[in-house]
Amino acid sequence: MVELETTQGVKTLHKIFLEDVYSIPGGEKIRLCQQCGTCSGSCPTAYLMDYSPREVIAAFRAGMLDRVLKSNTIWLCTSCYSCTVRCPAGIKVTDIMYELKRLAIKYKSWPSSSKNPAMSKIFIDHVHRFGRSYEAGVIGQFVLTQKPSLAWKFKGLGTKLFLSGRMPLLPKSIKGKDEFHKIIDLLATKEVSQ
Ligand code: SF4
Repeated sequence: MVELETTQGVKTLHKIFLEDVYSIPGGEKIRLCQQCGTCSGSCPTAYLMDYSPREVIAAFRAGMLDRVLKSNTIWLCTSCYSCTVRCPAGIKVTDIMYELKRLAIKYKSWPSSSKNPAMSKIFIDHVHRFGRSYEAGVIGQFVLTQKPSLAWKFKGLGTKLFLSGRMPLLPKSIKGKDEFHKIIDLLATKEVSQ
């Protein structure tokens, strides 16, 4: 296990991150960042982030990824891919965010007050179970286990979504769920062996 609090740990994290990003096709382009800020300007949630997408790349260059892992940035990425599509250097910024999220989960590194990792885990558990997102289950479990006071806040929206047929009460699994599980389990085995 990498100790993120030590200089050696931070260096090891940097190395692991770089190897993983380089394993993404085109991942080596991370070195071509011009710090133009197009990614940050395109990101719909950058204004809420501790570090904008441009600053994430700058932190990587400065060997300060440990700070990014402890920030809210990666948990606020909505995977809209605007940054990736617009980056003039062809850098896969969204994939980099995913890689950082993977590392944060692996090393249990996130802001102590953040509920985003819990939401992420509940979402992934549901996708694993049904092969797709089950919104009512995800929101219900999140509210009940993390912040019951939110139930009142979401009551109106939940009712509207249900009445318009956008949020069924019961889950519906995809076809070929067994094959889907085999793929996920294979990837999980690969991840553990790394
Ligand atoms: Fe760097 Fe691309 Fe973001 Fe510009 S858009 S700052 S080149 S990652």
